[in-house]
Amino acid sequence: KLIVFEGVEGCGKTTQIQLTNEWLQSLDIQVVITREPGGTELGIDLRRLLLEAGKNPISSRTELLLYAADRAQHVEQKLKPNLKQGKFVLCDRFIYSTIAYQGYGRGLEMDLINQLNNIATAGLVSDLVFWFDLDVEIGLKRKRSSGEIADRIEQEKIDFHQRVQQGYSELAKTYPEKIVRINASVSKEEVQQQIQDKLKKVIN
Ligand code: C5P
Ligand code: MG
Repeated sequence: KLIVFEGVEGCGKTTQIQLTNEWLQSLDIQVVITREPGGTELGIDLRRLLLEAGKNPISSRTELLLYAADRAQHVEQKLKPNLKQGKFVLCDRFIYSTIAYQGYGRGLEMDLINQLNNIATAGLVSDLVFWFDLDVEIGLKRKRSSGEIADRIEQEKIDFHQRVQQGYSELAKTYPEKIVRINASVSKEEVQQQIQDKLKKVIN
């Protein structure tokens, strides 16, 4: 099963992926944790290029293509092989990030986004998506205090993050069977509980 974790900066995805991994392993389920960008060797290089603020700005369409390249490699090298072996793959970000960040955030046309997502995923679809719904200001504060915020993202104004959040919220409304909203503003134990409650139905 491919389980995707999505949300704005500082929403707690990474922490919850760790906790979910521990829980699934305690149930003797084989789990793989991965992320986009950066889930492959090539992806690690692409992630660095995408997140550090170089001297020359990256255009929005170039950024879209680099995220798509990261994803294409990730799908072929990591996601498909592990899913084929029947593993549970917990993936930090997937196509919904591209829709939210490059579509809503950067304002690129949805047609273009969808085309690139189709090329990159080559038909691979996720089984479940958790959207961590958290106020963007709270998330940014968290992410800044952990010192983890990417330089290129730090250059963006609050409106950018609000648009990304709006994107996630509209996606969740459009695909209610696929995207599960998680209230990410509660304690990490309570967030984990929401995830486990949902996953119990998937594990069967
Ligand atoms: O997963 P993580 O939060 O570490 O993501 C790394 C960074 O990449 C984030 O700051 C996010 O805003 C950015 N990103 C993006 N567009 C994507 C995926 C990630 O701007 N499609
Ligand atoms: Mg993270």
